[in-house]
Amino acid sequence: MSTTATLTAAQEATQKAWSKRPLIISGPCSAETEEQVIATAQRLAATGKVDVLRAGIWKPRTRPGMFEGIGTKGLPWLQKAKELTGLPVAIEVATAKQVEDALHFDVDILWIGARTTVNPFSVQEIADALKGVENVPVLVKNPINPDLELWGGGVERIARAGIKQIGLIHRGFSNYGNTDFRNAPMWHLAIEMKRRFPEMPIICDPSHICGRRDTLQDVAQKSVDLQYDGLIVESHIDPDNAWSDAKQQITPETLAELLGNITWRKEDTGSAEYHAALEKLRQQIDHLDDEIFQILGNRIKIAEQIGQYKKDNNITILQTNRWNEILERGIKKGEKTGLTEEFITRFLDAVHMESINHQNKIMNS
Ligand code: PEP
Ligand code: MN
Repeated sequence: MSTTATLTAAQEATQKAWSKRPLIISGPCSAETEEQVIATAQRLAATGKVDVLRAGIWKPRTRPGMFEGIGTKGLPWLQKAKELTGLPVAIEVATAKQVEDALHFDVDILWIGARTTVNPFSVQEIADALKGVENVPVLVKNPINPDLELWGGGVERIARAGIKQIGLIHRGFSNYGNTDFRNAPMWHLAIEMKRRFPEMPIICDPSHICGRRDTLQDVAQKSVDLQYDGLIVESHIDPDNAWSDAKQQITPETLAELLGNITWRKEDTGSAEYHAALEKLRQQIDHLDDEIFQILGNRIKIAEQIGQYKKDNNITILQTNRWNEILERGIKKGEKTGLTEEFITRFLDAVHMESINHQNKIMNS
């Protein structure tokens, strides 16, 4: 931790925001004009619900021809917004020069964007530029592809540069078609990151997960229910006319409403009855898990017998018709017990693959 005695007032405000739970970061996708940055900051501050002002200064866009950020010229606007509202400011950096400029203009918190976390050279360049920097927390967004090694590797590079305050931003993962999300949340990956880095705060970015306004509330609530430490949500004084990510931005007042609608839950009540009741239910879960494993083990033994039979008769392992039959039957049965088609499909997929692997061993031994 830092030595509070030597902190400037702005650094102290940053430390205070950084340790607040839930940590709420908001502001425009992009800084566009001085007036827009300042008006957004003031309206956010007026809600009393926001801890840090965010704004994109350099915008790595997936495709050319879009607004790529106002650049260094926008940094004094953030300084002014901080002066007027007292909100610490956070921006995305992607190169050493951007780190240098950001620090020169007193940016308080930095984040590494999803398109940068994918590139170890870029992350290392940022890490090198951060050596010796103190009291500037760094947030690492998940890479655009669902690769936890890259995400964790990014975190490790920043940690090795000596940065003590590192956080994670979960903004979802690129996916091609067939989804309600701009970036599929793949919650299980974020949960695994929490397990790998238990001390690290993780905040959710519903804006880039949803890509639209009407689903922000649900995704924000889900992250709160999964014990995230905060939210980063894009806001704009005139969302429809934003220069980037117009569809997903909301006004500061809508943000306040969204935050007000969230049910904030705690990790524990501390009461003995609660613990006893939970413990009893958890024992039941453990017991059922044991039974499931036993049954799955029995199922595999039968699959092995089938494997032996197929081997003796020189039959292929995969029988597409049979697999379709299992899936259809499972989905129907699952529906009756309240299990979703998605879960049954994934579950049977895993069970089927395990059977195939066992049969494969038998047939080729
Ligand atoms: C952003 O926060 O505006 C941004 C560009 O996000 P991401 O890196 O998650 O796409
Ligand atoms: Mn954006």
